[in-house]
Amino acid sequence: EAAINRIAAGEVVERPSSAVKELVENAIDAGATRIEVAIACGGKTLIRVTDDGCGIPADELPLALSRHATSKIDGSDLLNIHSFGFRGEALPSLGAVGRLTITSRSGAEAARIAVSGSRIDPVKPAALNAGTVVELRDIFYATPARLKFLRSDRAETQAVGDVVKRLAMAEPFIGFTLRDCTGGGEGRVTFRADPETGDLFGALHGRLSRILGADFAENALRLEAERNGLTLAGYAALPTYSRGSSTHQYLFVNGRPVRDKMLLGALRAAYSDFLSRDRHPAAVLFLDCDPHLVDVNVHPAKAEVRFREPGIARGLIVSGLRHALAEAGH
Ligand code: ADP
Ligand code: MG
Repeated sequence: EAAINRIAAGEVVERPSSAVKELVENAIDAGATRIEVAIACGGKTLIRVTDDGCGIPADELPLALSRHATSKIDGSDLLNIHSFGFRGEALPSLGAVGRLTITSRSGAEAARIAVSGSRIDPVKPAALNAGTVVELRDIFYATPARLKFLRSDRAETQAVGDVVKRLAMAEPFIGFTLRDCTGGGEGRVTFRADPETGDLFGALHGRLSRILGADFAENALRLEAERNGLTLAGYAALPTYSRGSSTHQYLFVNGRPVRDKMLLGALRAAYSDFLSRDRHPAAVLFLDCDPHLVDVNVHPAKAEVRFREPGIARGLIVSGLRHALAEAGH
């Protein structure tokens, strides 16, 4: 069974950044207002996510580590995803690929559970003020083939930074800190975004200014459109702010960061009259709809989406962006 767990785990956890994504999503689901991510050696030796969320009661710690145990759905409605995680796969997978420790406080008591390989240590009392600390050390230590597949520390560090920034865009009211602890100790802060305040658009604008730079924020048009129960919100930059690559394109479906060819194609199409082929629009787009109209879980480790009616999503992006550009005089 341990081997099967490890194979299944590899599907969910491809590299340190996918572990970070799962852990940060759990912290968001737990209602955290501040989330800190610490890594060492690109996340290969250490990944630690600390949150101030609701915590896990001591007697539920073993359950959180068992496959398909989730507190987020009742099982009858797998498509009705209102929170990020919904498969109960992440923690058991992480426990199968590395040395995992969860310390959490719910109510007056804090407790810790540790797992490595197939061995789960009993729950022990611990000291913690609030929230949850999940620490994953030595990812893939038991599967050298997977370890070899990882890229350089530098590339993995970059991938972790990218994941944290995407999630920070999606959650402007939550504070995020990313720390690099390579070499030990407290490490150094490599990214920091304090919780934004105000209304959603104001908060998003502040967060985008923080992550993409004041330059983006100053050139960004506010987007708000709706069609057939699908809403589009976000900011798209003026054509004059186009980039030489597609690095400044961020898409979210129902709050989840996605990379989707169809949606990226729609973004490109909206700007086709204004940009030459070698220029790429910059935009941060949030699409929201009834969870039944979209499957964001085509593959756990990939960020694909499948719309029930892709034409509506595409049309909304193209018309929403063209409308905003026209209002800005294009
Ligand atoms: P899922 O997120 O799909 O439910 P996970 O394996 O990621 O599955 O987590 C299992 C369960 O552990 C969650 O349903 C939740 O109850 C609990 N949990 C995990 N991380 C946290 C956290 N940071 N704070 C509070 N509870 C958590
Ligand atoms: Mg989860």
